[in-house]
Amino acid sequence: MAGKKVLIVYAHQEPKSLNGSLKTIAVEELTKQGCSVTVSDLYEMQFEPRSTRKDIIGDLYNPEQFNYGVEAWEAFKNGCLSEDLIEEQRKVREADLVIFQFPLYWFSMPAIMKGWLDRVFVQGFAHNFPQCYETGLLKNKLALLSFTTGGDEGIYSDEGVSGNIRYLLWPMQHGIMHFCGLSILAPHICFAPEYASEEEREQMLTSWVERLKTIWEEEPIKCTAEWYYK
Ligand SMILES: Cc1cc2nc3c(=O)[nH]c(=O)nc-3n(C[C@H](O)[C@H](O)[C@H](O)COP(=O)(O)OP(=O)(O)OC[C@H]3O[C@@H](n4cnc5c(N)ncnc54)[C@H](O)[C@@H]3O)c2cc1C
Repeated sequence: MAGKKVLIVYAHQEPKSLNGSLKTIAVEELTKQGCSVTVSDLYEMQFEPRSTRKDIIGDLYNPEQFNYGVEAWEAFKNGCLSEDLIEEQRKVREADLVIFQFPLYWFSMPAIMKGWLDRVFVQGFAHNFPQCYETGLLKNKLALLSFTTGGDEGIYSDEGVSGNIRYLLWPMQHGIMHFCGLSILAPHICFAPEYASEEEREQMLTSWVERLKTIWEEEPIKCTAEWYYK
């Protein structure tokens, strides 16, 4: 929809990967719709995933004993976070929809993306208890996890050895995104692209573009335990 702003947080080392292609076609389709699209290409940016003292510019709130959560919160309030964090927070603040594009690593996101969340979604910016979940500070924004797997769909079914794929979405979608107030659109999952035929991979890309065509009409999921563990 024209005028909407989309941030794609993208974590893959290889532009020719399926993740790279999914990111590229999302930029093309959303731009065609008149959306303004920004990509945070984390590997290309060499984004620092570690939460350290370097994230705070100037004096610490408690120099005697370093507590990252407290220091980042104070630094946010005082405008003393490092430049890279201020820039990523600006992108999130402007976005109507944040798409996370990544390959599944150990039932989760790659460390570089988790590090982005650790450092960007700090207290005061994304949450500030009791402002969490429905009242989280990023409410009125949408989040969508778009990812690829090594395992096939059967492995991630109720009967499969890895269990229903929704189980592993709870920490990412509920524990991070929804905690910070984001409304969650259904995930977009490409199962086992490495073992798919060329035609199947092309179909995966086509399905993603087709979905994006009507993405603004979608209703968020009900982010309750039942959605994940029913
Ligand atoms: C540390 C680590 C942990 C992991 N943990 C898990 C786990 O817990 N669970 C799990 O299921 N998997 C896991 N995996 C596997 C991982 O999720 C998959 O390898 C990954 O999702 C595959 O996506 P990709 O983009 O890297 O695929 P790629 O190998 O890059 O892409 C697949 C194929 O698609 C081709 N392709 C790219 N663009 C196009 C196009 N436009 N048209 C047609 N073909 C195209 C590529 O050339 C390639 O041949 C893990 C991997 C690692 C390294």
